[in-house]
Amino acid sequence: MEKPAAKNNTACALFQSRACAILNSETCESCPLASERPGQNQAELVKENVALFESLLPDEGVAYLFESGTCTVCKNEPKGSADRFAILDFGHHEPEEIQVRRLLQRSGVGFMMPLQFACCRKCGRRFVLSAYLPLLVPTVLTAVMIPLFVSPHLMQLVKSAAVWLPFVLVLLTAGGGYLLGKFLQQRLNRQFEQDMYFDLLSHPASKALMEKGWFPLLDRSGSAPILSRRRIEYGLGNAPSGAYAVKTEDKIPVNTEEIPENREIAD
Ligand SMILES: [Zn+2]
Repeated sequence: MEKPAAKNNTACALFQSRACAILNSETCESCPLASERPGQNQAELVKENVALFESLLPDEGVAYLFESGTCTVCKNEPKGSADRFAILDFGHHEPEEIQVRRLLQRSGVGFMMPLQFACCRKCGRRFVLSAYLPLLVPTVLTAVMIPLFVSPHLMQLVKSAAVWLPFVLVLLTAGGGYLLGKFLQQRLNRQFEQDMYFDLLSHPASKALMEKGWFPLLDRSGSAPILSRRRIEYGLGNAPSGAYAVKTEDKIPVNTEEIPENREIAD
């Protein structure tokens, strides 16, 4: 695993604080505090935002989803072992201050964070199969049709039936294949939903988040998740559960796995 740069700015007002742990920036340079302007008490503002963020999380938090060793997408026991992540982005209207800053990019969104569901191989493959089905079916159909179009004898037969028939066959193969793929996709998705949360928005974790005012940031593919072997380690919502367990007066919990050997942690 690539080791993160040390967060070693001992002069920072939030050095080794709970807010720093939850803020979960990769380095001090990538922290929102790095953009501090004179005359602003940015540290207080960041602390307030972190507290607000925490109040907008469900009681059980979100870290358990990516920390789970078993699939959190499987509905039934036994659940597969987790070996990838199904990631879905969520946004929140709060806080207004960040929303305003982000106006040029995406209005109406303050906090953003991904839900990272630990996912087994089977569930992961189902997401992929479903996503590619509308392309897969016309591709397979076209492959089947190729011998027809490269064989002069067969082509002659088709043309003798009607000169426009080859053209119609191509249209049917591409368009019809796509529609057939869409149809099969919907049937398959319903079947998958029986023993997995194929629609991740129906997952209890997504529902709990949406009850707190979060909304999914969906792209053209609807609620299809991004699949990744590695989880997103940094940023809001991606801190391990230990970060939230810290009491205000405590220092950041030391995750020995992620601390470079030459880094010294102050007692
Ligand atoms: Zn699974």
